[in-house]
Amino acid sequence: MSRILFRNARVWDGSGAAAYPADILIEGERIRAVATQVGQLEAAGAEVIEANGRTLMPGLVEGHAHITFINGARPTDLGDTPPEEHTLIAARNARLLLDHGFTGAYSAASAKLRIDVVIRNAINAGELPGPRLRACGPEITVTGGLGDERRAHQFRDSFAMVADGPTEVMKLARLCVRENVDSIKLNISGDDHTRTGVLPRTVMTEEEIRAGVTAAHDYDRLVNAHCRASESVKRAVRCGVDVIYHCEHADEEALDMLESVKDRVFVGPAIGLLHAAVHEAPEGTIHKGVQKGIALGLEAASRAYPEMKKRGIRVVIGGDYGFARTPQGENARDIEHFVNHLGYSPNEALVCATRYGAELMGMGEKAGQVREGFLADLLLVDGDPVADVRLLQQTDRLLAILKGGEFHKLDRATLERQRIRAAE
Ligand SMILES: [Zn+2]
Repeated sequence: MSRILFRNARVWDGSGAAAYPADILIEGERIRAVATQVGQLEAAGAEVIEANGRTLMPGLVEGHAHITFINGARPTDLGDTPPEEHTLIAARNARLLLDHGFTGAYSAASAKLRIDVVIRNAINAGELPGPRLRACGPEITVTGGLGDERRAHQFRDSFAMVADGPTEVMKLARLCVRENVDSIKLNISGDDHTRTGVLPRTVMTEEEIRAGVTAAHDYDRLVNAHCRASESVKRAVRCGVDVIYHCEHADEEALDMLESVKDRVFVGPAIGLLHAAVHEAPEGTIHKGVQKGIALGLEAASRAYPEMKKRGIRVVIGGDYGFARTPQGENARDIEHFVNHLGYSPNEALVCATRYGAELMGMGEKAGQVREGFLADLLLVDGDPVADVRLLQQTDRLLAILKGGEFHKLDRATLERQRIRAAE
């Protein structure tokens, strides 16, 4: 069994407590020991990494991953990409996530039926580098809903699958399960850029939602939902949806309902895309009416999320990365957005990015923290991410990335250079 010893690390353990100095011993895929008496652990047979006070922390988890998104400007780009090219892009995106310190990724939808599934399988088989991946099916939407890119008299593929009525929704949900997804996705509300209007509306009926939830839960698969409008959040809670995304327009009653299921449900704002559309889109690149709707959404999120935090609702990071304005790899920016827009302290935002993410992934009791017996999905960071969360956006600051006790990255040259400089 492989043994790795990180000596004299500054451990930010993911519990929310302040960082402390410790030696960490890893055996196989798990953390064997966390010793706060630095220099006392038996190092025989172990590869010793002198951490010299650098931060050892749990790996990041992207809670709203779209490895099939291609950094395009328009949603139609996804339907226009043939499956062969699309699969190769997704494989590169999976690797990119791990390169950026994401050891886990919970998919919020795949743009084609089987891409998430085959990439997950290849990663699990050790054939491709990538994070632990929970695979999702394509978004299931109603005619005219978010993701229905078809137009009368024109052929066009969508990134969503269209279903109307409970029977059709159930059939598509079962199709996704048959192809072995970990979760399905239901688009319960519209979106600011859909044709159904600037203010997002609730467009999927409770009968339709319930049919999808029943089909997925019958096979112990999870259900994710796109819910911007307040009513869509309420329908999702009433029908037993497991992961409820966006939720920025949730009113008091919707927040109460989310709180009532907080031990079971996860929420993800996907704030990165809203931030980018409002603050970073060059003048004239987004339709004015759409941009106004998105700005209202960002404002609403800055009211709703501090309230969710207060109520102890588990919120995960992941900002719809994979569009032109939110390219894949920039996912850790979401931690900064949580601090700047949603009222989280850096420490709290980092818990969302690690521990809550691991809980969402369903990785078992012993994952998502630096503790004895826990899975060794870890980062060694040059600097203090609590003092500056933006450090996690810089890959050169990630000196080591471990998944299941195995190095995906170990920057020996930098560690050695800094060790020599410290000794001089
Ligand atoms: Zn999304």
